[in-house]
Amino acid sequence: MTYNGTIYRPPTEANTFLIPITEGCTHNSCHFCNMYQNIPFRMLPFSEVEKFLQIVKNSYRKYCEQIRRVYLVGADPFALSAKNLLERIDLIREYLPNAAVFTMYARTDNIASKSNEDLVRLKEAGVDDLYIGVECGLNDVLEYLNKGYSADETEKQCIRLNTAGIRHCDLLMLGTAGKGRGLECARASAALENRIKPHKILINTMSAFVETKLDDDIKKGYFLPATEKENLEEEREFLAGLELPDCYFWALHPLDSVKLDGILQEEKQQMLDALAWSIENVNENAINRTSRVGTL
Ligand code: SF4
Repeated sequence: MTYNGTIYRPPTEANTFLIPITEGCTHNSCHFCNMYQNIPFRMLPFSEVEKFLQIVKNSYRKYCEQIRRVYLVGADPFALSAKNLLERIDLIREYLPNAAVFTMYARTDNIASKSNEDLVRLKEAGVDDLYIGVECGLNDVLEYLNKGYSADETEKQCIRLNTAGIRHCDLLMLGTAGKGRGLECARASAALENRIKPHKILINTMSAFVETKLDDDIKKGYFLPATEKENLEEEREFLAGLELPDCYFWALHPLDSVKLDGILQEEKQQMLDALAWSIENVNENAINRTSRVGTL
């Protein structure tokens, strides 16, 4: 099987079995992202998925029965219709008979394209823990970043997921609003997350990768990036505003200058203390977020 492009999966799925079902991203035009440049979106045909599963079966044999959690690979495989997803889940179960949970990345517009009945059927089939690029709670910022959906739309769709019983894990980025707007952004993002009640929150920090529109805008002076101190102040304000005791907060991304994680009820204060210390001691010169080489 030939798979085009890099495989990305959420860090919290490091121990989950990966099965490719799509390549690329249906949107592929967020201004900060270079993950799928030159990789057109493609749904892998049924036959290709089956070929992959045959290799898995031949390679792992009895171990296949122990696989309970599966991560469906691609930037937004939830873009597939409910019918296509359910067919692929049924196929996977023929090879991995005890697979019970199917997790993947999803965009807000992928959810919008499904009916409430579709969501219930997907939940019953084992779909859970959808990783959603929420990014932040400010509509104008999402519009500038060309996210393709607003915070209001994300709120509406995540509440539909909650009603169907599908948990979501929200990815948020520090620094999206640029210099001077971090605290405003933090408050809007915390209020949004409190309303939509994610199972997990994953944080990374916006960086200007080469050949992105964001990098270009920074070079031309159209976008003024936040300082690292501002990013950390935004993170502290966001974390302080969260009222989600059972939520797991993850900020261990290589782009996060302060590494934190924990269940909010137990470790929120400890994480806030670590941020407070870091805000006092941050070394701006040691962190250069412009024109980085690499990807998210
Ligand atoms: S950030 Fe996600 S949705 Fe946006 S272009 Fe990149 S992969 Fe696609």
